[in-house]
Amino acid sequence: MAAQRLDGKVVGQAWRTELEARVAAFRASGLVPTLAVVRVGDDPSSVTYGRSLQRIFERAGCGFQLHELPGDAPAARVTACLADLNADPAVHGIMLQEPVPAPLDASALALHLSPAKDVDGVHPVNAGALFHDRAGAMVPATALGGLLLLQRSGVELAGRRAVVVGRSPIVGRPLAMLLLHQHATVTIAHSRTRDLPAVCRQADLLAVAVGRPHFVQPDWVQPGAVVIDFGVNYQGETICGDVDPAVESVAGALSPTPGGTGAVTTAALLHNLLQAAAGGDSLPA
Ligand code: NAP
Repeated sequence: MAAQRLDGKVVGQAWRTELEARVAAFRASGLVPTLAVVRVGDDPSSVTYGRSLQRIFERAGCGFQLHELPGDAPAARVTACLADLNADPAVHGIMLQEPVPAPLDASALALHLSPAKDVDGVHPVNAGALFHDRAGAMVPATALGGLLLLQRSGVELAGRRAVVVGRSPIVGRPLAMLLLHQHATVTIAHSRTRDLPAVCRQADLLAVAVGRPHFVQPDWVQPGAVVIDFGVNYQGETICGDVDPAVESVAGALSPTPGGTGAVTTAALLHNLLQAAAGGDSLPA
C-alpha cells in the first residue's frame, strides 16, 4: 500500500489562510506586521528564497524589507544594520539569511539580533527558551513547520520512537526538542553515528535533515514508519529530498520533496512574525 502523503502544500496553505486573517486584524488596528530580511552577498539560493519570501509576505498583507549588503561587508557593518532594525519600531521580525560569506560567522552575528524580533529562532535566548519549553520561544521556522505538518496530518507523537538524522541548530536540534516536548522518545543521529541504517530502522517516526540527495534508503525504514524529509537538494533544475522516493513503498507516511516541509516553513515564519508583532508566544495552538 502506498504511504500516506504528508502534504505540506495543503497544510501550509491552510495555515497561511488562518494567519492572513490575523494579518488583516493587525492591519485593521493600524499595525502592519513587517519582516526585514538581511542578506550579505549574493548566494543564489538565498536570493531565490528572499524573492519568494517577499512575494509570500506581501501577498499576506505584511510589510517586507530587504537589506542587501555586499559580500565583503565587515561584521561591524552587518551588526550596525541589525542594530538599526532592532531599534526600528516599524520592524517586527528580522531574519539574517544564511549562509553568510566567510569570514563572517552567522552564530556570532545572531547574538546581535533582538531576541524579540528573531523570527528564525537563532539567538541563544530563543534556543534556550525552546530547550526549556518556555512560552515566548521563537522556534526555528523549518522545525516548527515540520511539527505542524506532522500534527495537522494526524500523526500521534506522544510515546513515539523518533529518530532525527541531523543536528543543525536550525533544523535537527530544534525539531528533536519539539518532538521531546510532545513526549516522543527521541534519538538524534549525525555524521558520527555508528550503523546509521540500524538506528533509523528503530524509528517509528524518522525525520531527516542531512542535505544529501536520496540519502535514506528503503531498507533503513521500519515498515509503516512515518518519514518526514527536510532535505532540499538541487540537482540541476530539479529539487530532491534527503529520502529516496522508493521509501514510499515501505513507509506508512512520507512527506514529498518538493511539496512537503518546505511548503510549511514560510507559514511558520509568518506565524513567528505575527507572534513577534503581538509580543507573544511562538508555539501555535
Ligand atoms: P547542515 O547544517 O549542513 O546539517 C546537516 C546535518 O546532517 C549535520 O548535523 C550533519 O552531521 C548531518 N550529516 C551530514 N552527513 C551525514 C551522514 N553521512 N550521516 C549522518 N548525518 C549526516 O544542514 P541543515 O541546515 O540542517 O539542512 C539540512 C537539509 O535541510 C538541507 O538539505 C537543507 O537544504 C534543508 N533545509 C530545508 C529547509 C526547509 O524549509 N524544508 C530549511 C532549512 C534547511 P554533523 O553535525 O555530525 O556534521
